[in-house]
Amino acid sequence: MIWYTTEEVQRIMIITRSLQMTPAGYMRMFWSISKYENFIGELFTGDHEENYGHEGPITIDTDTPPFLPIWFDVANELGYKVGDPNGFQTESFTPMAKAINKGQRSSSYNQYIKPIKNSRQNLTINAYSIATQVLIDENKKAYGIVYERHGIPQIAHASKEVIISSGIFSSPLLLMKSGVGPRDQLEEAGIAVKHELPEVGQNLIDHLIFDLNKIQYNASIIPYIPRMPDEQDFEEMLQKYHETGEGILGYLNQGPQAFIVSSRAKQDGQEGWPDIQIIYVPMCPIPEGNEAPTSCIYLLLGRPKSRGNMRLNATAYRSGIRNDDVKLALIDFKYLEGEGSSDADVVLEAIDLAFDIINSTVMQKYGTFYGDEPHSACLSFEFLSKDYWRCVITQTIHSGYHGVGTCSLGSVVDSKFRVQGISNLRVADASVFPAVPNANINGPVMMLAEKAASDILQFWN
Ligand SMILES: Cc1cc2nc3c(=O)[nH]c(=O)nc-3n(C[C@H](O)[C@H](O)[C@H](O)COP(=O)(O)OP(=O)(O)OC[C@H]3O[C@@H](n4cnc5c(N)ncnc54)[C@H](O)[C@@H]3O)c2cc1C
Repeated sequence: MIWYTTEEVQRIMIITRSLQMTPAGYMRMFWSISKYENFIGELFTGDHEENYGHEGPITIDTDTPPFLPIWFDVANELGYKVGDPNGFQTESFTPMAKAINKGQRSSSYNQYIKPIKNSRQNLTINAYSIATQVLIDENKKAYGIVYERHGIPQIAHASKEVIISSGIFSSPLLLMKSGVGPRDQLEEAGIAVKHELPEVGQNLIDHLIFDLNKIQYNASIIPYIPRMPDEQDFEEMLQKYHETGEGILGYLNQGPQAFIVSSRAKQDGQEGWPDIQIIYVPMCPIPEGNEAPTSCIYLLLGRPKSRGNMRLNATAYRSGIRNDDVKLALIDFKYLEGEGSSDADVVLEAIDLAFDIINSTVMQKYGTFYGDEPHSACLSFEFLSKDYWRCVITQTIHSGYHGVGTCSLGSVVDSKFRVQGISNLRVADASVFPAVPNANINGPVMMLAEKAASDILQFWN
């Protein structure tokens, strides 16, 4: 799991400013980070060390693959600084931060739930349960949920409140199934409107990713790119991994990376604020036996302008489907549409940057070249020309899996995560971010979760 914390907070700060959040509220975000994070990694600049938490349950380490020194040499050659991914944002080449402790994922389930799941008197976890509706009375007060367990509908009553955390698609869907959402969609599905909230399911934002595959080398790169060992060495590798968490199974294999400011960001007055994340993937795929290593470069847009939505599939709902959100969600990311069409220009610029890296003297020492075949849908364009890349971008741009925004702060929930117009009901997950954090979003989601937990405790105490 790739991990970002304070870098996102710079972005969130802009959002909170636009939502008139107080400086005290902003400082509480840092407090939320220090609550969950236990940073044990290496800092290359040491800047803003105070932004790192050290006592939380989620261990964050610095990924230092053998390729990292080469990456830093490329930075020097191209005139970029070497930095830390979670320091104050500037253009820089950095290692990856990872939520991995001794080769094992430091996840929210492992670190928050597992240690206490059998010891808390006031905690009951019903696995294999799918919430299908929030129960809301005539006074617009939530008082429980309907859920299905092994196909059997059941009800859980809430003595205090209901908190929805089912992610960017299922949270807005659950609201809609409960009669909270855009009136036209609810009426089309035949759902009684409890409270009209037009923005439920709107403002879907995601990082766009473009993949440059098949970066190839000569044999001199081999010491810097790990490979799967031959069968006879496999046992030894597994044992080493179990004992120390080291070896190929302990690598993140995404990173190192660079953060660069695009021309569009500069035009938008965001000169010091990178919006292109270049992620080097050294093993792509992981070489086996005597295979020559190949790598990929993922180009991620941190601040895309594309805006999509998720609508309720009225036909599926009317046919009686309640517990299958894959069928109930109509998702349209609208990548590169409308204002988002300028996202393609930023990707083009990112592709140029990737080729600057490939063609650098440092990388040429290893005979590095782009070895992919022309894309079959773009053969009418001159290979590697701007028009060619525009065509490939349209064909292959894809989700960064960092969606947010479908129950946005300000239009669906308030600053305490309370659903507008309904009492005793909150949403606390990635869907409440009104803008996408600037890089991988799991850290910001946990920060938000700590903030929500603290608000809820404060309210009931
Ligand atoms: C393939 C992939 C790779 C990713 N890699 C990274 C990464 O490296 N770094 C990073 O920072 N971020 C990464 N992300 C993004 C990150 O995982 C998400 O942004 C984050 O998990 C969102 O948290 P959430 O709590 O909003 O939703 P989720 O983590 O999706 O949690 C929602 C939970 O609700 C459950 N649920 C849904 N509907 C119902 C229902 N009706 N009833 C009961 N339960 C329900 C779901 O099963 C799920 O467990 C990745 C995402 C994906 C998909």
